[in-house]
Amino acid sequence: MKILISTDIEGVAGVFHAEQVRAGNGEYERARAWMTAEANAAVQGAIAGGAEEILVNDSHGGFRNLLPDGLDERARLVLGKPRYLGMMGGLEEGCDAVFMIGYHSRSQGRGILAHTINSFAFARVLINGMELGEAGLYGALAGEMGVPVILATGDDVFISETRDTFLGAEWVQTKVAHGQGSGVTLSPAASRRAIAAAAETAVRKLQSKAGSSSDPKPVPFRIPAPIECRLQTQSAALADLFCMWPTLERVDGVTLRFTVDSMQSAVRTLNSLAAMSFMLR
Ligand SMILES: [Zn+2]
Repeated sequence: MKILISTDIEGVAGVFHAEQVRAGNGEYERARAWMTAEANAAVQGAIAGGAEEILVNDSHGGFRNLLPDGLDERARLVLGKPRYLGMMGGLEEGCDAVFMIGYHSRSQGRGILAHTINSFAFARVLINGMELGEAGLYGALAGEMGVPVILATGDDVFISETRDTFLGAEWVQTKVAHGQGSGVTLSPAASRRAIAAAAETAVRKLQSKAGSSSDPKPVPFRIPAPIECRLQTQSAALADLFCMWPTLERVDGVTLRFTVDSMQSAVRTLNSLAAMSFMLR
């Protein structure tokens, strides 16, 4: 069994402030070590549960936060951008399941450091009428490739908005959000212990034959094509810029839409728009 561990930083225990997730300061250097340690806890648990091969994907910002020399040597690391599959980079190799570690809730919500892909550019993303955050968008990308999300970790807001998306998954609540920049966290050590235990359970459950109605087997999260994406931007100037792209249709001052034939195309389009947005920063 081969597992992809996609690792973001905003949902990691101990992380609350923008400085902790932005390179170039001491706070970040400590936070990226906690992020690496939570990834390692997931590796350890997956192997204890029977996984034979592990890829760890660095899924935050520039996709180069995890410390390669701190990574469990039983895993390989997916680093750097751009990459077509973004936070799911590594699935090209073929994987049986995905873990989402250190994830966060979507933009406009009340979770810690909540945003969707790019906090400067995107206010809301709806796919076929469903509002999704990063977990939903990338979970649907994995689902399109036939791969279920079997473990996800982050704050309580993240879990409550995502739980129904990944039926049968295991969850670890690392923090309780009191707002964008405040709340209550597990200690990093307690968080790592909980993640390792849940990772082991998740891999064992995927390998076992039967689920039950109270504890179903995980299934891929699939959104049938065509994929209509409605995107609300953070400003009208961003919508002006994005609609330079001729296949994007303006709906109103801050809303545009496009239709594509796959989640991969939708995610690639969103990531291209996020890159374009740097022009207006
Ligand atoms: Zn992030």
